[in-house]
Amino acid sequence: MRLLALLLCLVGGLLSAAPATQPNIVFIFSDDHAYQAISAYGDARKLNQTPNIDRIAKEGTRFDRALVTNSICGPCRAVVLTGKYSHLNGFYNNTNSLFNGAQVTFPKLLQKAGYQTAMIGKWHLGSDPTGFDFWQVLPGQGVYYNPPMINAQGTVKTQGYVTEIITDLSLGWLEKRDKTKPFLLMCQHKAPHREWEPNIKDLDFDKDRVYPEPPSLFDDYANRAKAVADNDMSLEKTITEKDMKLVRPPQLDAEQAGVWDAYYGPRNEAYRKANLSGKDLVRWRYQRYMHDYLATVKSVDDSVGRVLKYLEQHGLAENTIVVYASDQGFYLGEHGWFDKRWIFEESIRTPLLVRWPGVTKPGSVSKDLVSNLDFAETFLDAAGVAIPAEMQGRSLKPILAGATPADWRKEFYYHYYEYPQPHHVSPHYGIVTDRYKLVHYYGTGRDETDLFDSEKDPLELRSYFGQPGYEAVQADLESRLQKLRVEFKEPAVEDEYATGEKKRPGQGQGKGKGKGKGPNAGKAPEAK
Ligand code: CA
Repeated sequence: MRLLALLLCLVGGLLSAAPATQPNIVFIFSDDHAYQAISAYGDARKLNQTPNIDRIAKEGTRFDRALVTNSICGPCRAVVLTGKYSHLNGFYNNTNSLFNGAQVTFPKLLQKAGYQTAMIGKWHLGSDPTGFDFWQVLPGQGVYYNPPMINAQGTVKTQGYVTEIITDLSLGWLEKRDKTKPFLLMCQHKAPHREWEPNIKDLDFDKDRVYPEPPSLFDDYANRAKAVADNDMSLEKTITEKDMKLVRPPQLDAEQAGVWDAYYGPRNEAYRKANLSGKDLVRWRYQRYMHDYLATVKSVDDSVGRVLKYLEQHGLAENTIVVYASDQGFYLGEHGWFDKRWIFEESIRTPLLVRWPGVTKPGSVSKDLVSNLDFAETFLDAAGVAIPAEMQGRSLKPILAGATPADWRKEFYYHYYEYPQPHHVSPHYGIVTDRYKLVHYYGTGRDETDLFDSEKDPLELRSYFGQPGYEAVQADLESRLQKLRVEFKEPAVEDEYATGEKKRPGQGQGKGKGKGKGPNAGKAPEAK
């Protein structure tokens, strides 16, 4: 009996200490990748094929309602790391926020729990990355061609295309890592962020395909708050010559510039000769935008294929959680727009695909309201690490295992701040349910409210606020919204008029030189 007890004790001890029980985590995170541009999501326009990203969906779970709390680059990244809303992690916008790297983040907690951690690619949080054994990131927004990068030692020159470089560095780190430890790899792409500059070798990838237009390309913004029309992110008014590849990016070397000119040169000449205006001009811009955007997506998809292949070839696929997500969604011409920011579906919704062998059922689909707020807790839960009480999301593990808890969230809280630059999108906050959205716009000197009903109006082209028959729905949403604001510890509405001028509590925590000492410290992220 004593021998048996000793054996059991030994086995128990081995199990609890065994790092093999902690899964590796590969977090592939792109920038501004619309779910409409992932074939696994089955967009009606059938814009492209992403066979490698789709594999994650086929072998795992596709989330159809993964929502972000504040649809803009830097703030989404801060939410992912901290598991907290912008008003608590202190990173509200891309223009004057600086991430306080001293706060609790999930990579730090994983590192403490024995994980090897790496952050490679787009960071965009101003201060130096913390909680990583290795990091090498693009300064600010970064550039697509021959991008300079920075790490703890200083600036690193590179040659080539940004998506391939980030992939090479990620696989290189995997190769050199301490193989006795579980790992967290955050492989974060610049693509497909503006100005959507394709890999030189992919310029002719679509053979001048003509892309179907979205039904709301010529939205007149009627029947909604004035705030919706009053923004500056349209194909008609905002898009630049640089966005449209009518001028060559300055970072190209002579050889790359030659290939670039050979592709765009004759097409740009034909465009200039056509002298387009009005709707024809918007249509041309939409086609050029889709060509460029989808070419950058192709590179991201190729990168995902390389990472999946590496995991398979090195016996890592079975014990590695692979996540594919974007920092937020993006407009691909819907409402005549590019960019994001709004609580509306194309921007608030981000692609999210997760493969976790032994947990996710291949080909499963979740329609639960999940969020970028949930990543930190999911990864900590997967690693068996205690989740700090201050985090505001929830572990996705039960949903990944196919059993959504009965008390899973039925409503989601959203809050966007950045105004007026660069796109003049009104600050707004609101509640999202499976069917409705109630949104308050503020901070522009004009307070307005909209109510959207996805069952009657899936394209979000009209507001039902104040309409007969919606009284009870409206009152219910308003009361649930106020409860969410209390639950998530939001400051009072009158303190929300942060339009970039006023300092907010939590802002400027990394003021001056930032929290890090590296070359990135103290630099505010570039606004775009
Ligand atoms: Ca982004």
